Amino acid sequence: MMDRRRFLQTSAVAASLASQGQLEAQPMWGGPVLDIHLHFRPGADANFEHMQGCGVTKAVLLTRSVDEEKTKVAIASHPDSYVRFAAADVTKPEGLVALRKSIAGGAIGFGEIKYHLAVNSAEMQRLYDLAAELNVPVLIHFADVPQFEGEGTFTSPFSGLPAMLKAHPKTKFIGHADGFWANISADFANDTPYPTGKVKPGGLTDKMLSDYPNLYGDLSANSGRNAMTRDPEFIRGFLARHQNKLMFGCDCSCTDGKGKNQGSKQPALLGKCVARETLTALKQVTTPEIFRKLTWTNGNQLLNIKS
Ligand SMILES: [Zn+2]
Ligand SMILES: [Zn+2]
Repeated sequence: MMDRRRFLQTSAVAASLASQGQLEAQPMWGGPVLDIHLHFRPGADANFEHMQGCGVTKAVLLTRSVDEEKTKVAIASHPDSYVRFAAADVTKPEGLVALRKSIAGGAIGFGEIKYHLAVNSAEMQRLYDLAAELNVPVLIHFADVPQFEGEGTFTSPFSGLPAMLKAHPKTKFIGHADGFWANISADFANDTPYPTGKVKPGGLTDKMLSDYPNLYGDLSANSGRNAMTRDPEFIRGFLARHQNKLMFGCDCSCTDGKGKNQGSKQPALLGKCVARETLTALKQVTTPEIFRKLTWTNGNQLLNIKS
C-alpha cells in the first residue's frame, strides 16, 4: 500500500501538472490526429470545441467559397489547428472561378463536392482538370442509392469512376460516402446505403485503390464507420493493403466531440460522436503503426501540411 506521504506527494505533482495543462495534453489516441472532413461551423470556437472533445489535433475545414471571409476569421483564431478545403457550385461556370480564387486565398483542396451530377459529366470533368492544374486534391461524395425518397444520387454511377481515374491521371481523387464504402464488397447490389455483414472480396473500391495511384479514401461519416465495423477480418487486410492511401475524417454533426446534438438518425450514431466511434473502431482493426498513418501521416503527406 502506498504510504500516506507518498500519496500526498504524487497527488500534489498530478494537481500541479493538471493546473499547467500538461495532463490534458496527453493525446487521447496515442498521438496527434488529423480530421480531414470537418464541415465548417460558423463561430470562431465551434470547430475547435468539436476537435478538443474528441481528441483531434488538426482539421481540414470543409468550407464554401461564398463563406471565404467568415472562414478566415475562424482560422485566424487557431491558425495552427486548421487548414481548409473550399467548395462552390460546380454546376455553374462561376463555381470554378470561385474555386480558383479560394485556392489562391489559401485553401488547399476542393471539397466537399456533392452534386447531382454524373461522375463523367462535363461539369465534373472540368473540376477534375482544374484540380490537376492547381495540384490540389478533390474530395467527392459518391452515392448511387438515395437515403430517402427523392434525395437522388451524387456523382454517379460509381462504376464510372475507373474511367475518370484513367482519363485524369494527374487529379488526386479522395473518395467518400456510401457509394465509395459500400463498394468494398463485390456483392454490393446497389440496394442500401449501409450494407452490413460479411464483405465479399474483390469489390470495386478495393480494386481501384490498388489499380489507380491517384485514388485516396476518406474514412469519415457513417459510411466509413460502418465499413470499419461490418467485417473486422476483411477490413484488417483492406487497411493493410491501402495503408498509405486512407485518411481519417469525421463528418460529424455533434457539437462537443462527445455526441451532444448529434444530427444523424443512424441507429449506430444516436447520441454519439462519429469521430470517437470511427477512431475506436480503427484501433480495434489495425496495428498501431497503420493507425498512425491513417490518422495523421497520410493526410499530412497528401495535403503537404507542414506540422
Ligand atoms: Zn458527404
Ligand atoms: Zn462529433
